[in-house]
Amino acid sequence: MVRRDFLQGLLWFLSSILLSRNGVKRAMASTNGKTAADAAGSGESTIEGYDPSKHRYAMGIDIDKCIGCNRCVEACTTENDVPEEPFFTRTWVERYVIERDKSVHVETIGDGRAMPKEKIEEATILRSFFVPKLCNQCENPPCVQVCPVGATFSTDDGVVLIDSERCIGCGYCIQACPYGARYLHPKTRTADKCTFCYHRLVKEMLPACVEVCPTGARLFGDLKNRASRLVRFERSNRIHVLKPGLNTHPKVYYANLDGEVR
Ligand code: SF4
Ligand code: SF4
Repeated sequence: MVRRDFLQGLLWFLSSILLSRNGVKRAMASTNGKTAADAAGSGESTIEGYDPSKHRYAMGIDIDKCIGCNRCVEACTTENDVPEEPFFTRTWVERYVIERDKSVHVETIGDGRAMPKEKIEEATILRSFFVPKLCNQCENPPCVQVCPVGATFSTDDGVVLIDSERCIGCGYCIQACPYGARYLHPKTRTADKCTFCYHRLVKEMLPACVEVCPTGARLFGDLKNRASRLVRFERSNRIHVLKPGLNTHPKVYYANLDGEVR
């Protein structure tokens, strides 16, 4: 009996791997109840006229422009029905404080007015700034590599999505993401994270966080469109990504990123 269960489990696991390798082309990506375009690998789409193979999406963040107002986080929470913060979030903003003795303090801000929990004397502060963070939509995503059932996959237009119908909530992807960008949704018990608002992209709309940012610190575009704002941003700034040594090849590009940011 035990042996038969083991063999059945093994067969199920191997078939899942095969499906994963096929890119889960027919999977429907559900973003918290909103059905996004078909998993894009097949070139098919539920949005008429949308061809994912013609796009490659990425986000730009200009650190010098972020004022830490947190509007991007609020917009994301509303748009994507994200469960109560601070435990669950698809995007967040960190405040970095660097002291004269080079000590670094980092706090995720709550309402845009929060100060670091530790009281830091103004006179000792060398510099402080805000860093918005989110899923980096990696070109080489560890989360996709570890998913045992192919529920996490990359689309042709460069977005990493989760098929919530297929996700078994094992949490491997949450552990594998080096950016802490995923969480287990408390209601669905499936993995969840930023999708670049994929349900909006396929309708040629901007991600909610980009749309509301009052200073233009967040911008978005299509790497395949040379006239895109993002391509101009990339050309005219010195671009950094988070944890470049990990070989994940993020598609969230930062300008004016301080060397202390991890
Ligand atoms: Fe996956 Fe994390 Fe990369 Fe997003 S940032 S694609 S969740 S590894
Ligand atoms: Fe920074 Fe823009 Fe987000 Fe405000 S909305 S915290 S300025 S990125």
